[in-house]
Amino acid sequence: MAFDRRSLLKGMATASAAAVASASPVKAARERKVVPEDARGMLYDTTLCIGCKACVRACKEANDLPADTRTPGMEIFDAPTDLNDYTKNIIKLYSEGDRRSYVKRQCMQCVDPACVGACMIGAFRKEKFGIITWDRDRCIGCRYCQMACPFGIPKFEWSSLNPDIVKCEYCRQREGDKQWEPACCEVCPREAVIAGTYEELLAEAKRRLAEHPDRYEPKIYGEKDLGGTQVLYLSHVPFEKLGFKFDSEEPVPEMQQTIQHGIYQGFIAPAALYAGLGVVLWRNRRKGGAEEEEGEA
Ligand code: SF4
Ligand code: SF4
Ligand code: SF4
Repeated sequence: MAFDRRSLLKGMATASAAAVASASPVKAARERKVVPEDARGMLYDTTLCIGCKACVRACKEANDLPADTRTPGMEIFDAPTDLNDYTKNIIKLYSEGDRRSYVKRQCMQCVDPACVGACMIGAFRKEKFGIITWDRDRCIGCRYCQMACPFGIPKFEWSSLNPDIVKCEYCRQREGDKQWEPACCEVCPREAVIAGTYEELLAEAKRRLAEHPDRYEPKIYGEKDLGGTQVLYLSHVPFEKLGFKFDSEEPVPEMQQTIQHGIYQGFIAPAALYAGLGVVLWRNRRKGGAEEEEGEA
């Protein structure tokens, strides 16, 4: 563990006291976050994807994830129907009349990630290349990240006594490899999903849109949506049909701040409440795992 229970409690109490002492009814607005200079990402193009799911298999192998044989009637197959605790990457099919499209879903590597904003003790962080990482040693299992993510990405390992949060971290375990590239991008036989720097990918998406305006919806999803994402999408069907329902350019953490300011204006900041809740949740998580911690309590 990066810290023990005593230091966690002490840290929370100190932070809580400091926050309450310094609480003012209205704080200055957050600065809008921008894409980091070293940002890496992905570009997925629905017109190129053939739904072969090689990326789903490669993701499982690269991340040591078990086969998901829990789908009723599909018990002898690895057949996840959505992202879950065994699945960080999924290909879904949209079909309506004669209109069809595949869509790949994984973490969007948001520019201003709601999961990071929601995580009280920094288990979620935006790190090198702008990739959003999760730290097992810090996580208390409160699942605020799950509730905050507008794309429904983080999944909780309900089947485990010491559960993890499961989500795509851009294959960061491969970072040391000379040819570091996310497994899903490496295996795609059609280059429907490609990896690169954010700048390269955005330029490529703009080039495709300009060359084939008849082929695509006139939009690069992720360029501005919800403050921007480092995973970009081009599509031949409307993005809402693929489950991208948010048309706001305001990042979720900014919306949260606006709402919180509205609710708490004139009240003491709820830092003490958060700290207390955090302790309870952390204790609940530990019950399932470390026996030695119980003795200490
Ligand atoms: S490997 Fe490529 S073509 Fe196959 S499903 Fe994945 S993104 Fe689509
Ligand atoms: S998609 Fe969800 S989990 Fe991924 S960075 Fe954005 S808010 Fe976090
Ligand atoms: S980057 Fe890695 S973890 Fe993320 S979807 Fe691709 S293969 Fe899976």
